[in-house]
Amino acid sequence: MKTTDSKKETTSKTGVKAGVTKPKSDAASGLTELFEDGLKDIYWAEKALTKALPKMAINATSKELVEALNKHLTETEGQISRLEQVFELAGQKATAKKCDAMAGLIEEGDGILEETEIGVVRDAGIIAACQKIEHYEIATYGTLRQFAETLGMSEAASLLEQTLEEEKGADVALTIVAVNAVNLEAAEAD
Ligand code: ZN
Ligand code: FE
Ligand code: FE
Ligand code: FE
Repeated sequence: MKTTDSKKETTSKTGVKAGVTKPKSDAASGLTELFEDGLKDIYWAEKALTKALPKMAINATSKELVEALNKHLTETEGQISRLEQVFELAGQKATAKKCDAMAGLIEEGDGILEETEIGVVRDAGIIAACQKIEHYEIATYGTLRQFAETLGMSEAASLLEQTLEEEKGADVALTIVAVNAVNLEAAEAD
C-alpha cells in the first residue's frame, strides 16, 4: 500500500468513489434502525444456537468440552432473555430475523460433524467451529453495545455488555479446553 500521498484520496485506484452513498437526513433514526436490525439478527442467531449447541454437545467426547458447551447453552438462554429486555427498552416487540452469517457458521459446524468420526479430532473441530461462532457474537455485541451507548440507552448498553463478557468468557473457556484436553490428543490420533 502506498503511504506517501499527502492528501486523503476519495477515489481509489479502481475509480470507485468512497462515501458517495448519501446519508439519510435524520442520522439518529438511521442508527436506531441499524441497532434494531442488529438486535433482530442476533436474536435469531442466539435462538439458532440453542439448537446447535446441544447437537455439538452430544457429538463431543471430552468431558471438559461437554461441560463448556452445556454451560454456554445455559448462558445462551439467559442472553435471549436479556435481548428481550433490550427490545423492550427500545420499545420494540422481540422479533427474530434470519442471520445469514450465523446460519453459515452453524452449517460449517454441521460439516465438521459429517467429516469426522466421534473422538478427539471431532472435538477439536467442534471447538474450532464454536470459537468462530463466539467471535461473530463478540463482534456483534461489541457493536450493539456501542450503538446503545451512542443512542443514550445506557441500560440496554449494560445488558449487551454483560452478554459480550459472557461470549468472551466462552471463547476463553474453549481455548483452555483445546489446549489442556483436546488438541494434543487429536494430534496423536494422526
Ligand atoms: Zn449468540
Ligand atoms: Fe450468545
Ligand atoms: Fe448476523
Ligand atoms: Fe456464545
